Amino acid sequence: MSLLLESIKQTKPHLYRAFSLIEDGDQHLQRIIEFDSYWEQLKKPVRKVILPSSDLPKDVVISGEYDLIYAGGTLGLLHAAVMAGRYGRKVMIFDRRQPAKSTRDWNISRKELLKLSAIALFSEHEIDSVIVRQYKNGWVEFYQSDGSQKRLVIDDVLDCAVDADKLLGLAKEKVQAVPGSAIIAGSTFLCCYQCDDHIVVKIEDSQGSLFYYKARVLIDVMGVLSPIAMQLNGGKPQTHVCPTVGTIASGFEDVDFDTGEILVTTAPADKAPGKGRQLIWEGFPAEGTKYITYLFFYDEADSTNDNSLLALFDTYFRILSGYKKPGKDFVVHRPVYGIIPAYFHDGFDRTREIADNNIILFGDAASLASPLTFCGFGSMVRNLERLTGDLDRALCDNKLSKKHLEMISAYEPNVASMANLMKYMCFNVATDEPNFVNDLMNEVMIVLDDLPQHYRQAMFRDEMKIEELAIVMLRVGWRYPKVLMATWEKLGIHGSLGFLKNILGWAFSPVR
Ligand SMILES: Cc1cc2nc3c(=O)[nH]c(=O)nc-3n(C[C@H](O)[C@H](O)[C@H](O)COP(=O)(O)OP(=O)(O)OC[C@H]3O[C@@H](n4cnc5c(N)ncnc54)[C@H](O)[C@@H]3O)c2cc1C
Repeated sequence: MSLLLESIKQTKPHLYRAFSLIEDGDQHLQRIIEFDSYWEQLKKPVRKVILPSSDLPKDVVISGEYDLIYAGGTLGLLHAAVMAGRYGRKVMIFDRRQPAKSTRDWNISRKELLKLSAIALFSEHEIDSVIVRQYKNGWVEFYQSDGSQKRLVIDDVLDCAVDADKLLGLAKEKVQAVPGSAIIAGSTFLCCYQCDDHIVVKIEDSQGSLFYYKARVLIDVMGVLSPIAMQLNGGKPQTHVCPTVGTIASGFEDVDFDTGEILVTTAPADKAPGKGRQLIWEGFPAEGTKYITYLFFYDEADSTNDNSLLALFDTYFRILSGYKKPGKDFVVHRPVYGIIPAYFHDGFDRTREIADNNIILFGDAASLASPLTFCGFGSMVRNLERLTGDLDRALCDNKLSKKHLEMISAYEPNVASMANLMKYMCFNVATDEPNFVNDLMNEVMIVLDDLPQHYRQAMFRDEMKIEELAIVMLRVGWRYPKVLMATWEKLGIHGSLGFLKNILGWAFSPVR
């Protein structure tokens, strides 16, 4: 038994027991602790990792030159495969772990996934090879103590389980097939130096050796822990977070392998001190007898609650049987976990910093997706065509300053406004009744159930139009006037104005 696992035996007994039984339990524990360093980083002074060229050591040896260097080997691989394969760009990808090995799996609809074949990244056959199961439909349900909850059934939403590592592995092969490209494992980003027309990236390998690489653009895809995002956003890279844990397991007694459980609550909010939160479950059938369950909640990034993945995972194993009952053959194949980021843009348009001279942020480092339906991967799939085409144009025109690069983003005004609704999902011990989030969401489900199927599909695929959201909001307000008081308590003047600015920005945006 590893010392690390032993160290949580007393404090996190449920997690300890479960992780003691799984392969690589101590390595997963190490990664979870790495994610939890996020909470400490928010409190520390911001580390400067973007430095002027004058700080570059005089005797520096450049180990390689590329058009694009990607720090982070998850979603970055999808982007890099297009830049190398379609646009012939010389790319290098490095990751402090193994590129193409993720701590999560993904759900999406096949129609959305086919966008990756429309831009010739993968063939349709390759797309189908990474879909490990497709369901008939999915549903959403929020707890009511008298059992009166509305089960909202949705077709063609998040109904394909994707093997994330297989998909990323295919992208990795595409990058490797392009001569001149490089993929480096076990190397950590330390800092970068902005020069007149390029950038130099400093990397440390697992033996502690330092290397310098030169690129026209550094693409930061280091996820929620990105030190670049931290610096560019003054130490506040996210306004909200959605800590998420779960497992890919088999041997549950009561699962339906034809249906996805998109959002499910089984109890009112947890009101224990330091834990004010509404826990939410998800359940998705996967390959063969495997079944994925997630437990998560929404909160403000700087809340005083204990939002650690470690604590949430202990809770997950403690209460799992209240959601899905593990049978006698229950076995965990792999834990899945991460902090899903979110950002409230206080303005008519994007207010988060996502670029600097010769630097651009994508994926969770950019935090432009909505956390409501797990959409960092979905956002990349939806936006990959323009995120690659626009960057190639910028490289051709040599327009690589902050002003030009920040125009290339996955910001979508409708997604920004929808993401604001997460504020209603953050339970506030001081102001909310214990079942507030469930009661409100149950009303939203009743309203959506009355409207044509298209409304619920648009909402859960981040494709809502402004007039559709207005109809849903007006109907919910009419049925459930308490939401008006809640808006005042949760958003206040500042938040309500910000919300209105976002909606106005959306209304006047060309991509309504
Ligand atoms: C449990 C879970 C389930 C999810 N399910 C879905 C879903 O069904 N559908 C969907 O659309 N989205 C889903 N998401 C969200 C989605 O997984 C993320 O949006 C996506 O993984 C973000 O990818 P990324 O490459 O930006 O960041 P990450 O996946 O966090 O990858 C960042 C990479 O950067 C590396 N890195 C970090 N720091 C450094 C450094 N200093 N130096 C070098 N490398 C570094 C890391 O090792 C890592 O490989 C889920 C998230 C979680 C947590």
